[in-house]
Amino acid sequence: MHRPISPLPRWRRIARIVLILVGALGLLVLARTWWSFRDRNPGYAVRLDLDGATATREPRPLRVGFGRVKINPDLSDPRRPVWLAGFSQHRAATAIHDDLWAVAVVLDDGHTRLGVVALDAIGFFHDDVIAVRRQLAADLKLDYTIVCATHNHSTPDLMGLWGPDLLHSGIDPAYRQQVIDAAAKAVAAAVGSLQPAQLALHEIRTPPENIVTDTRKPIVFDADIRMMHFTRPDTGATLGTLVGWGNHPETVWSKNTEITADFPGALRDALEHGVTHEGRQLAAGLGGVHVFVNGAVGGLMTTHPTVTVEDPYLKKEIRDPSHAKSVAVGRQLASRILARLAEPGAAATTHAPIAIRARTLSLPVDNKLFLLAPILGVLDRGHTGWLRMRTEVALVTVGEASIACIPGEIYPEIVNGGVERAEGGDFGIAPVEVPSLRELMPGKVKFVFGLANDEVGYIIPKSEWDQRPPYLYGAKKPVYGEVNSLGPETAPLLHAALRELCAKAK
Ligand SMILES: [Zn+2]
Repeated sequence: MHRPISPLPRWRRIARIVLILVGALGLLVLARTWWSFRDRNPGYAVRLDLDGATATREPRPLRVGFGRVKINPDLSDPRRPVWLAGFSQHRAATAIHDDLWAVAVVLDDGHTRLGVVALDAIGFFHDDVIAVRRQLAADLKLDYTIVCATHNHSTPDLMGLWGPDLLHSGIDPAYRQQVIDAAAKAVAAAVGSLQPAQLALHEIRTPPENIVTDTRKPIVFDADIRMMHFTRPDTGATLGTLVGWGNHPETVWSKNTEITADFPGALRDALEHGVTHEGRQLAAGLGGVHVFVNGAVGGLMTTHPTVTVEDPYLKKEIRDPSHAKSVAVGRQLASRILARLAEPGAAATTHAPIAIRARTLSLPVDNKLFLLAPILGVLDRGHTGWLRMRTEVALVTVGEASIACIPGEIYPEIVNGGVERAEGGDFGIAPVEVPSLRELMPGKVKFVFGLANDEVGYIIPKSEWDQRPPYLYGAKKPVYGEVNSLGPETAPLLHAALRELCAKAK
């Protein structure tokens, strides 16, 4: 015998189903959150203190090598659009106007070997940098490799933020792998071509007018050109250069759908091949391979569409965004560099001790968008834990040059001085990121590599941080910048870490 089971009332059955569904959804969100914040490289940490003392005691001849590998995406399959990064979502590439490259230089003082590879890319996350380093075979004997992105806004999305819509990543994993492989190959090729070299350092004053504008107060630029010029000790022939300057490569602006290396490509081309127009050579090139590394591009350095740039060789003024305007910006830099190298008497050395200090750093993620984006799968990068992100800073010296490696878009006032207690700022505090990095850095010619070994977004002085009214300097609307920053502690933490490395290096 059994008692008949009375069926649950209808509303209770529905409530039970709803509860189960909500519970399942909650579990899914939890699992997704755990998955997106997992550490892709557990235990990875860099703590490097190579002081260059042996190279100073026992100097050996400097050697340098260059390598480059093309990193054009495949546009042949219309079913797989290539999403361009940097402006709005859903901007599919339509053609390749000029080639994208991974360009590498390797320096070796006989004791320490340093690799630098610059990618024509919007940004390259730290996990991808780790992937490049892991591909570099031990027999390449690299002590440290810096992987930089030029921050080019006409290249395939490598950060995930510029897909078909706000909810989908724009990264093609196959392309990301192609760039990782190419970066490693370029560095390996540079090691393979190491040869005796002499190094001359140059700093070229470059007023920003009619090249680059600053779209956020205070008005501070990183507009001077800094350069390492490597030549053969026997003939003086150019082997290549490493050029640093700070500006957003977004000259062709938001309507452009053609892949281009923008002004860094035009600069490299003019330095190598010179400038030819309608069959007439207007400037002779240097030959060699040229590496462009971007500088302090935050706060916000750009060749805005309202800026008129003159092509110094064609004597033509260009205002509207176009490939010709990118070329004009690149040639503005090239003409100054070529003029400087034509002057006699630059001091060159065949001995340049290399010292490297690098640290892994964990940064807090304060920005709620940076919390949501990983969960949505739009942002896929290395976290070391809940709301913590792994990144890296470094300070390198090469003879009388120093290089600060900044993992993002730093505001130039942190680099060159001029951080303000900004009227309307959220914290109402005195400048935190002082003294400026260039005051702290050792050496005579002080390079700042932006987007080096990571891209964490804007690095904004805490005293200029502003999300709440009243807005900065009496502005009616919120200023642009904070939305693309990890948070107000990013700049103080990076500045403090670099300050410590600078103190060790002095
Ligand atoms: Zn930017």
